[in-house]
Amino acid sequence: MKKTYISLDRSTKQTCNVFYPESITDLKKLRRGNNYIVQGSGVSYTAASFDSNSIVIKMDNFNQIKKMDQKNSQIVVESGVKLFELYNYLIVKGFIITSIPGYYDISIGGIIAANTHGKDHYMNGCFYNSVESLEIFHPIHGQLICSRDSNRHIFDLTIGGFGLTGVILNAVLRIKSISKNRTKKLSIYRSEMKQIISSMYNLKDKTESLISWHNLSSSSKKFGEGILMYSKLSKGEEGLPIDKINIINHNKRIHNISFFNRLTIPWINKLFLLNSIYNPFNKVTPHFQIIFPWHNKLFYFFGYGERGFIESQVLIPKKNIKPYFDEFQYLWKKYYTPILITSCKIFRGQKKYLNFDGDGLNFSIDVIKDRTGLSFLKHLDKINIKYGCISNIMKDSRLQYGTIIKQYKNSYLEFKKNILEYDPNLIFRSHLTSRIGMLK
Ligand SMILES: Cc1cc2nc3c(=O)[nH]c(=O)nc-3n(C[C@H](O)[C@H](O)[C@H](O)COP(=O)(O)OP(=O)(O)OC[C@H]3O[C@@H](n4cnc5c(N)ncnc54)[C@H](O)[C@@H]3O)c2cc1C
Repeated sequence: MKKTYISLDRSTKQTCNVFYPESITDLKKLRRGNNYIVQGSGVSYTAASFDSNSIVIKMDNFNQIKKMDQKNSQIVVESGVKLFELYNYLIVKGFIITSIPGYYDISIGGIIAANTHGKDHYMNGCFYNSVESLEIFHPIHGQLICSRDSNRHIFDLTIGGFGLTGVILNAVLRIKSISKNRTKKLSIYRSEMKQIISSMYNLKDKTESLISWHNLSSSSKKFGEGILMYSKLSKGEEGLPIDKINIINHNKRIHNISFFNRLTIPWINKLFLLNSIYNPFNKVTPHFQIIFPWHNKLFYFFGYGERGFIESQVLIPKKNIKPYFDEFQYLWKKYYTPILITSCKIFRGQKKYLNFDGDGLNFSIDVIKDRTGLSFLKHLDKINIKYGCISNIMKDSRLQYGTIIKQYKNSYLEFKKNILEYDPNLIFRSHLTSRIGMLK
């Protein structure tokens, strides 16, 4: 069967052959000589799970939540299980899973291969910390179980490994019991970027989730004016599953109208900011509304029209935050582009391979994909390299080998060497894999 896939940021569109295995027996029939790439939900910002030269292995039939072991706080799930299915299953039993993305129509396999982070990174780190073990299948190596104790090198290459080690069949995940299943959502206004960042660092040990939003458009009073949003767990009567889920298929042609543009973005930002100042968050909400801010808001991604957008997400080392933003401010004024979504999160973790992890400030911006926006980002790449930042490769479709090697340096070389030792023919490959130079 052939299908056309489009990356969420609309940078890449390709028609691919698709295969829907029903069991491991089907996977054992994969022919050597072909190239493959596994797809979970296929909602990544970039073309991480498809390529016209690879057969897409779609994991929809691996959708069982197998076994929950409350005593040891673990659960066994197949990789095609969607996050909302797992979340709803757990929350009614008083459990959650940490380090998950802000959206839920995302597969467990996709979360593992991206080694995702949530708004709780400072507390819980990346998803690596939530994985106990994995079962994978590779046409050359067969079926393998890997964990911190056995096949550790494959475990480490698979989590955050962009699907290059083969098909993740299932995983044993670590879960956490929560006695309070509602969340108190709070917000504070600050008139400048540096004030928000310093307030974030002051609050980091006292909050369950912590994220900022900034008005980076001509309607801001001072650079980086914005709000800090955070949450604390609060008492609730019963587990609250996500309801009224409205899933959007982005793999189709959309209108050519860019609702988010130079004129509208400053207005939208101003209205959002005024609303946040006059009606600050201070209410108890279901837990899912905090951890999944994208609940029923995926229409946002269509607002840029068919030309799309680019999400640049970088991790700035803590010691460089100040000089980074001094230069960023200068550059942004010089090559002005209005930005609708700008956010920061505090990270505490360790760098490994091409994982988007480490210590510092996670800084994200969604930029209109027009000539001005792309030119601004090209200049920004230089600042990112100068200040020792790493970019989230899963998010930014523009990034090529030349930039990535300068950012990740030895971590890139080590990842490539170890992947090629494991699979010299790189049987599993996607558009992203070629883009970052893994095939060179
Ligand atoms: C609205 C939205 C918000 C997001 N927020 C965050 C966030 O807060 N933090 C964050 O870190 N990320 C975030 N993301 C990114 C998202 O978590 C990743 O792109 C994730 O990989 C998408 O999962 P998917 O099931 O769609 O995977 P796909 O797009 O299908 O695949 C992603 C990668 O996983 C591999 N893969 C998928 N399944 C398997 C499998 N079974 N075996 C082997 N490899 C597999 C693919 O080959 C590919 O390399 C967000 C994405 C969206 C759309």
